[in-house]
Amino acid sequence: MIRTKIVATMGPACGGEDGLLALFQAGVNVCRLNFSHGSLDEHAKQIGQIREAAKRFDKSIAILGDLCGPKIRLGQVAAENGSEGMPINVGDELHICRETIVGRDCRVSTTYPHLIDDVEIGDRILIEDGALRFVCTHKSDSELRCACTIGGVLKSAKGINLPHTNVSIPSITDRDWECVAWAIEHELDYLALSFVRKPEDLESLRQHLKSKGRPIPIIAKIEKSEAVKQIDAIIEACDGIMVARGDLGVEIDVAQVPIVQKDLIRRCQAAAKPVIVATQMLQSMIEQASPTRAEVSDVANAIFDGTDAVMLSGETSVGKFPLAAVHVMSHVAEVTEQYLNSSDGVKEPPVRLGTFERSTAVAKGAWQIVHELRPSVVALWSQTGTTARIFSKLRLNVPIVAFSSDPCSLRRMALQYGVMPIRMELPKNMESFVDGIDHLLREYELAAEGDRVVIVAGAPLGTPGLMNSIFIHTVGQSWRAAMERSAVSDCALLDS
Ligand code: ATP
Ligand code: MG
Ligand code: MG
Repeated sequence: MIRTKIVATMGPACGGEDGLLALFQAGVNVCRLNFSHGSLDEHAKQIGQIREAAKRFDKSIAILGDLCGPKIRLGQVAAENGSEGMPINVGDELHICRETIVGRDCRVSTTYPHLIDDVEIGDRILIEDGALRFVCTHKSDSELRCACTIGGVLKSAKGINLPHTNVSIPSITDRDWECVAWAIEHELDYLALSFVRKPEDLESLRQHLKSKGRPIPIIAKIEKSEAVKQIDAIIEACDGIMVARGDLGVEIDVAQVPIVQKDLIRRCQAAAKPVIVATQMLQSMIEQASPTRAEVSDVANAIFDGTDAVMLSGETSVGKFPLAAVHVMSHVAEVTEQYLNSSDGVKEPPVRLGTFERSTAVAKGAWQIVHELRPSVVALWSQTGTTARIFSKLRLNVPIVAFSSDPCSLRRMALQYGVMPIRMELPKNMESFVDGIDHLLREYELAAEGDRVVIVAGAPLGTPGLMNSIFIHTVGQSWRAAMERSAVSDCALLDS
């Protein structure tokens, strides 16, 4: 089992149900719908296909909706001269109009009419994660005129960054609220918010979701320097983060991105929150069947840094080789994890959790046992996914098999490093839990007769925060017989 999780951005290149099933079999755990692209109807259709494919695959697949936030984008651009958009060269003058137009002949519009008011002469305007660059030279009531400093092809809906402009756009736009309502209706498992600037941005979304009775976990996309500056408060206010390197690399000095990536991953480790490293991981595979050496190193290094998940963007949504990209990612993860397993680099449990004292203490104990005994798996009950989330941060070198009776919690666990979520009805007592584990581990071929398994549980099962027992079980042995042999009564163990 590969412990690093793979997030794949959905789009026309993913294919229908069969294409998605192939992506899941190749290693995709989380499907990302980017609300910046495609219509809600298209996303709804894709959700139907994802759920059908996930049923056939018989493993939990999470769906993450990515809200645009205050991200400004190009309007529609017509395709010119056989290219997918409007070619523009260094020295050309681009007119950015207030009025909504279909872009052609060096004239475009954006999704944010007040761009014309906010940008000052001399400000830089970066398009498609900075691939195309402009400087504003003239400004009138109806348009900006901008000199092109790095050319390329302007395409519909590509993102615009204004690193030096004070933008007055709200953190969650009307379009976002529409997508949030849609996400609630379609029971998405995660919501990501782009361009988070401060913890309050997340708070208003959380309050809204709570008021609707659907507390969908929120992933904060870190892509603004303001967010990096108050990262601890943001991590506290969210349920996970995405290192959104595309926009981050133009909003801050690109040379700072690897440092920020390492720092954010370390902080999420301490907070026991999942982290996704995103953007350009296998970018060349949008066009080519094999990755560059630098891309392979990037994926491996994100895993060395301790990320939970690595993400594919254009590679799977619009690329020519979506399945090959997932295969490459899985293979790099597998080889990197084998190396991590074989090296005895990790000398102590990496968790430094303050907020979950009891769980952390038990988790550290389990870490010690796993390192000495090398069991096949660690099995635990995690009704809501919190226990699995804490254990995930231990970066054990064996899989964590997390059981829950709640399909929604199981899907959310699909994002956690090293966690394999499996459904089980809430057992009546510890004996039936152990019997259930024994049966399911063999069914999923995660352990065989005679293998050692470390079980972590709290009695009664399913009570949040009640993790109080670690025991070593041998697959195929009756738990009761083992207990009787060691002359420990059921009650004594459960009360310990
Ligand atoms: P973000 O900053 O949120 O990552 P992005 O524009 O970089 O936004 P990605 O999700 O990274 O978008 O996807 C990369 C590219 O793939 C997009 O720029 C877009 O051209 C294309 N794309 C993504 N999703 C879809 C979709 N559902 N339909 C069509 N094209 C899509
Ligand atoms: Mg972004
Ligand atoms: Mg992107």
